[in-house]
Amino acid sequence: MRERGSFGKASVRDAPVEGRRALVRVDFNVPLEGGRIADDTRIRAALPTISHLRERDASLVLASHLGRPRGKEKALSLGPVARNLAGHLDAEVPLAPGVVGAQVEAAAAELGPGEVLLLENSRFEPGETTNDPELAGRLAALGDLYVNDAFGAAHRAHATTEGVAHELPGYAGLLLEREVRELTAVRDDPEPPLCVVLGGAKVSDKIGVIERFLEVADQILVGGAMCFSFFRAQGMETGESLVEEEGVELAREVLAEAEDSRCELRLPVDLVVAERLEAGAEHRRLDRVEVPAGWMGLDIGPRTAASYAAEIDRAGTVFWNGPMGAFEIEPFEAGTRAVAEAVAQAPGATIVGGGDSAAALAAFGLSERVDWLSTGGGASLELMEGRELPGVEALRDA
Ligand code: ADP
Ligand code: MG
Repeated sequence: MRERGSFGKASVRDAPVEGRRALVRVDFNVPLEGGRIADDTRIRAALPTISHLRERDASLVLASHLGRPRGKEKALSLGPVARNLAGHLDAEVPLAPGVVGAQVEAAAAELGPGEVLLLENSRFEPGETTNDPELAGRLAALGDLYVNDAFGAAHRAHATTEGVAHELPGYAGLLLEREVRELTAVRDDPEPPLCVVLGGAKVSDKIGVIERFLEVADQILVGGAMCFSFFRAQGMETGESLVEEEGVELAREVLAEAEDSRCELRLPVDLVVAERLEAGAEHRRLDRVEVPAGWMGLDIGPRTAASYAAEIDRAGTVFWNGPMGAFEIEPFEAGTRAVAEAVAQAPGATIVGGGDSAAALAAFGLSERVDWLSTGGGASLELMEGRELPGVEALRDA
């Protein structure tokens, strides 16, 4: 696909990498199940930049965080990631004994052209999340230049995503650049009409994008547990549905702003409700949105799904973030599936962001059917809001 959007940062393509050692921040924060990698999409997404550097005879020191370790938690070692990556590259990928330090520096110094070393979980170092300049300095000792390909972590100003870019010349990786271009194009120059589909758990997570899109989108279609904050703000009963209390006030403000906006904010008109969030729980369709006591809303209903699908089909551009229901549990996946299928078939440009939305698309086998599937959840939302991403800002200007 043609590359879209603007990007003012220096690219790894233009960096002098031949025979040099690149410290590359990647986003290998993959989901683990029982010590195994449940989905290696993020590792595969970093392969173009890794291959690009290897083909140009650079050696690579890769850095990533994984989860939120408390100290040096063995369960969050990057060992399984090193083995997975070695398989993709058909090359050895040794795991360094830590993130920084003399032993790690020695291992990095031994790398030959095209060779790859993976550092341990960057969050094993307490200075990572505090963006400690001393840690940044020790990281800088591991490379001659820095490449950031970790779009999913670019909204964080951490030592491996931001601090180190002040110590080494910093370049954008191929994935990071493409992410910024694709998402910026939707934000600043969408083909109209722009239809934004928002779901997921909390209004507070998405309030920034809602406010931004009230100004620029033609429609915002709301689903997921988020809609119950809106219903509560409208004075409706929500039964046992998941309601984010903090979101109710935000939803009230959004409803007021939507009155004066040219953007149409749409809420579900029917629901699937159940007694419990469980596969075998008794569930039924409600042809309204007041949820009776003892029941919880777990998906949008078929009438809502059909009308959302029709709008998606009419759109020039679709941006989707957040599942329409508790799609992980079978009887409550239908709304999310209907939206996913509509997005997959839509004639307009389609862009999807958010970890759970990406997981839903993958579960339905539709990942390849959208124009751009972002690897960044929080980062994609912050970029859409118009906020600067520290991991991008710190790189060299083009
Ligand atoms: P994303 O990662 O795509 O941004 P979120 O993290 O905001 O999405 O929300 C996804 C989660 O919201 C999923 O785990 C899903 O089960 C949950 N969810 C969506 N709708 C409901 C609902 N009606 N009740 C309970 N949970 C819901
Ligand atoms: Mg999520």
